[in-house]
Amino acid sequence: MPQTPDLHSHSTASDGTLPPEQLVARAAAAGVEVLALTDHDTTAGLAAAERAAAPLGLTLVPGVEVSVTWGGRTIHVVGLHIDRHCPVLDAGLARQLAYRDWRAREIGRRLAAHGIPDAYDGARALAHGQLVGRTHFARLIVGLGRARSVAEVFKRFLVRGRPGHVASEWASLEEAVGWIRAAGGQAVIAHPGRYGLTRTKMLNLIGTFRELGGAGIEVISGSHSRDEAFVFARYAREERLLASAGSDYHGPEDPWVELGRLPALPSGCTPIWRDWHQAPAPRAACGA
Ligand code: AMP
Ligand code: MN
Ligand code: MN
Ligand code: MN
Repeated sequence: MPQTPDLHSHSTASDGTLPPEQLVARAAAAGVEVLALTDHDTTAGLAAAERAAAPLGLTLVPGVEVSVTWGGRTIHVVGLHIDRHCPVLDAGLARQLAYRDWRAREIGRRLAAHGIPDAYDGARALAHGQLVGRTHFARLIVGLGRARSVAEVFKRFLVRGRPGHVASEWASLEEAVGWIRAAGGQAVIAHPGRYGLTRTKMLNLIGTFRELGGAGIEVISGSHSRDEAFVFARYAREERLLASAGSDYHGPEDPWVELGRLPALPSGCTPIWRDWHQAPAPRAACGA
């Protein structure tokens, strides 16, 4: 049976801990044949990843993971096979990055009021000159000895109702899908099991997403259980979305997730990569 491609991963261009070159080298060493780099709200790592992938015989799928505010929640939409030179996508992501920087300073102010001074500067120092995400704050606070794990920092400081939480103002679902499609990419609902949506809300999300031109949904994800994979395989089949798969790898610090260690899709799903060999990336010209 052909290998399941790994279509969701992060580098130091966002909140991963490996630079794009090292991420690609690790994937190749693990036997991964097709890898998508999908950093949060940025395409800054793609050029280096593509350069590193070519001599290793690894197919690098240019991607991005766009943060979306939908119905008062944060949803992530992965874009696959995007043209990274698309002005429409670039302008959208520039706005997301400006908001991220404002939010990071605001998180820093709120943490300072809560007895953790200088957290913005500290998080920025961990961000390799790239965007500052909540994960950087979490790693900083673990490093300061104020919590034992990144997961604990999120729970105590960074989620809704906690002192460092800032209500999100990301792109709308329509904008995110529009930017990805303008760049010739396929939009995919990332890790649907993470949102705690009721069946009614999930169907509402999927219905809206499809009407906007969304293509797929992650059935296999590093943050899904085997049971969730079957649940979302069924949504994919019944709601006629293509099925995607990705580890959501962030680095070797999380040893429970590894690049490319993905089960096969449950039967009856149509893999999003089924027709990829017919059209080399980017799949369409930028619609700018
Ligand atoms: P941001 O986009 O900056 O709000 O950060 C979102 C990222 O934080 C996700 O992509 C994960 O990498 C990480 N994250 C979110 N929730 C948790 C959690 N409970 N434990 C560990 N990491 C988390
Ligand atoms: Mn992340
Ligand atoms: Mn995500
Ligand atoms: Mn991700």
